[in-house]
Amino acid sequence: MDRLIAGYRRFRTERWPNERARYEALATRGQSPHTLIISCSDSRVDPQTVFGAAPGELFVVRNVAGLVPPYQPDARLHGTSAAIEYAVRVLKVKAVVVLGHANCGGVRAMIDGVPAAAGDFVENWMKIAEPALERVRRHHAHDHDHPYEKHVAEVEAEVTKLTLENLATFPWIADEAKAGRLGLHAFRFEVFTGSMSVLEDDRFVPVE
Ligand SMILES: [Zn+2]
Repeated sequence: MDRLIAGYRRFRTERWPNERARYEALATRGQSPHTLIISCSDSRVDPQTVFGAAPGELFVVRNVAGLVPPYQPDARLHGTSAAIEYAVRVLKVKAVVVLGHANCGGVRAMIDGVPAAAGDFVENWMKIAEPALERVRRHHAHDHDHPYEKHVAEVEAEVTKLTLENLATFPWIADEAKAGRLGLHAFRFEVFTGSMSVLEDDRFVPVE
């Protein structure tokens, strides 16, 4: 707790005076974020930090591995889908961005097996991403010299693409995207180098 309180005091003395007008406007006029970000809960990959965004700009959904389940409106508790619905249909964001990353513990757990202590929820949650793992396995079925780290990175990238595909199963996302009113994009962040790639024509290319 002490660390959080100390951090709050720094925010209040150092940042708040400069940002006060922005927060007051956001409180008075309400939020109008331009982009919905889907990203991992991983503490090293903070969308607001890596995109240099100010408060009020990004509506962020974070969960284990940054996944989106396929569109399934039923009585179950769809936290991620609820946040997506609110951002796209109520706040009317202009773009949805999936932010994947390297060294993803969720993806690693899917490949190597979920830690015993994460069996109540994580194991089932990661099943959303299994089609991505299957694709990479199929692609390298006859490849006996495929280094583990490369395999993990490929699965991570494929999971990010799958999340983008799952977003398109939401009819009101597909419609808006088709009409050109909503952009759908994917990025990948390398924690070690701090560099970003963007998905273009099914490949991640470095952002200059
Ligand atoms: Zn992750």
